[in-house]
Amino acid sequence: MSMNISGKTKIFGVMGFPVIHSLSPVMHNAAIAAMGLDYVYVPLPIPVADLVAAIAGLKAVQSVQGFNLTIPHKVEVIPLLDEVLPIAKSVGAVNTVKRIEERWVGTNTDVEGFIAPLRQMDCDWTKMPAVILGSGGAAKAVVAACLELGCPMIHVVGRDRKKMKKFYGEMTSQLRDYNLRVHPWASLPHLLEVTGILINATPVGMASDPNTPISTAEMALLPNNAIVYDLIYTPRPTKFLKIAAARGLTAIDGLEMLINQGAIALEFWLDQPVPIEIMRQALLKQL
Ligand code: NAP
Repeated sequence: MSMNISGKTKIFGVMGFPVIHSLSPVMHNAAIAAMGLDYVYVPLPIPVADLVAAIAGLKAVQSVQGFNLTIPHKVEVIPLLDEVLPIAKSVGAVNTVKRIEERWVGTNTDVEGFIAPLRQMDCDWTKMPAVILGSGGAAKAVVAACLELGCPMIHVVGRDRKKMKKFYGEMTSQLRDYNLRVHPWASLPHLLEVTGILINATPVGMASDPNTPISTAEMALLPNNAIVYDLIYTPRPTKFLKIAAARGLTAIDGLEMLINQGAIALEFWLDQPVPIEIMRQALLKQL
């Protein structure tokens, strides 16, 4: 990729540790080039112990206009920001920060990124109870998204009772008008029978992991109109989605969430529409 860095070039980046595998630089730089803007998007590897110094230090670097955050910084960054927008507060995680009048303002674009492919579908979400597998950071964004869609019930299934209790406490302290329940993995068969949308928010099935969070027999319990969504975007499709598709269910992978969370972040920084198709093509080339 040829890039013209000048004295006026402004900087975006992604903070994480490690960030070596991040696809965000490729996706954002493709959009920036297509828009003909004098920006560059760079990896910002920052160890946990240095996050405080990095957030304060980058404030002094006037060319840095905004940044994304990924594992392990999405939660820890919150008290270091000048303002956190309501959507990020409700999730308890920030993935995008923008410099606005010399203040760091944080938001969360994972929620709308997750919803984006679902908005394309002709579906009455108020009739679609959600079942979420896993209770990590991504599951929190998915709960907020299902609430936003209007799902009548949101069930979160996890394997660690203590963590589930904590998850419930954190989510219900932030969200109003929720219908959230947490369950042990053993409750899954009963839940699957009444599922409208089933979401895998665990890393099971990622990259070289050949496993699936639920079996073919469990997948058979889902209603015929159920939608199955895997947050994982590599491999495409995962075994989870393969067995869903083999059952004739609508299957969605994590790629659109990845693209859309990036596009929404870039729009937030630039205050103008961004070429999402260019971002999609740039990502597909890398996968
Ligand atoms: P995380 O915070 O580490 O949470 C992972 C969750 O999965 C935890 O609840 C964990 O349970 C559970 N889990 C892990 N291994 C499991 C197993 N073998 N069986 C059952 N549950 C298991 O990770 P995250 O950030 O939420 O990410 C989750 C997945 O979403 C990852 O694959 C990530 O790549 C994907 N993701 C995709 C996008 C996108 O844009 N498409 C965005 C964010 C995340 P314990 O707490 O009991 O360990």
